[in-house]
Amino acid sequence: MIYIGCHLSVTGGYAAMGETMGRFGGNTFAWFTRNPRGGKTKPVVPEDIERLRSYLAGGHFGPLVAHGSYTMNLCSASEETRANGLDMLRQDLERMELLPGNLYNFHPGSHTGQGTEAGIRQIADALDLSMRPDMNTCVLLETMAGKGSEIGGSFEELREIIDRVSCGEHMGVCLDTCHVWDGGYDIVNDPDGVLQHFDDVIGLSRLKAIHFNDSKNDRGSRKDRHEKLGQGTIGLEAMKRIALHPALQGLPFILETPNDDDGYISEIHTVLSWFDAEENDR
Ligand code: FE
Ligand code: FE
Ligand code: ZN
Repeated sequence: MIYIGCHLSVTGGYAAMGETMGRFGGNTFAWFTRNPRGGKTKPVVPEDIERLRSYLAGGHFGPLVAHGSYTMNLCSASEETRANGLDMLRQDLERMELLPGNLYNFHPGSHTGQGTEAGIRQIADALDLSMRPDMNTCVLLETMAGKGSEIGGSFEELREIIDRVSCGEHMGVCLDTCHVWDGGYDIVNDPDGVLQHFDDVIGLSRLKAIHFNDSKNDRGSRKDRHEKLGQGTIGLEAMKRIALHPALQGLPFILETPNDDDGYISEIHTVLSWFDAEENDR
């Protein structure tokens, strides 16, 4: 079994997200740590977190997967943007320590012309300034489509970042199915090969979460446009093989498909039905 859920809005508090996901039929969820436009975050209310903890304990939930802001770019050529990014990262990681779940995923960043090596160095430096040896949160680098000057379009680049961070034991990876497909990895015809390559380069023990998305574009397009499950170029059969892949069992799978609530509820049920069918086959 995997855990399945989608992004929810943190506006109503943390416990409300758990309860909403319970209604949706899922058992994990993701949220953006701050709204993409402003930098403001809501303070964490201890009673809210207690309510979330007790709700999760009763509901067989898997790890939760927070998502850092899209505006956080730790390797921009602009010093101001980098400094803002570092502030966001530090505040986000501090807040994460107050929450259960403790996976924090973010986009490594775009080097905006500085080159990949410089970008990787700056990302690792920002992580070193923000992470602590005694932290509970696992910080996840997201696999990217590699559009523009994005870092993280290859497993090798993520590995380089992890290698440079001194608290490397608190680092992991979130694999986005749309992004790796758009980045050129053939998860449709050769999921075993792609996961083997991931294992060789990064190590499957670092894989902590999946962003479960179909894609609007062809493999290698470097576009990053998500599609509903089964309506894109990856297709339902391939998505199903990924969800059922033995190497990925026990991981939280987060839908980031273009859907409204009803769409997410239906995709969550589709994914869960794959496992029911498996059970019946045994
Ligand atoms: Fe993302
Ligand atoms: Fe994603
Ligand atoms: Zn994306």
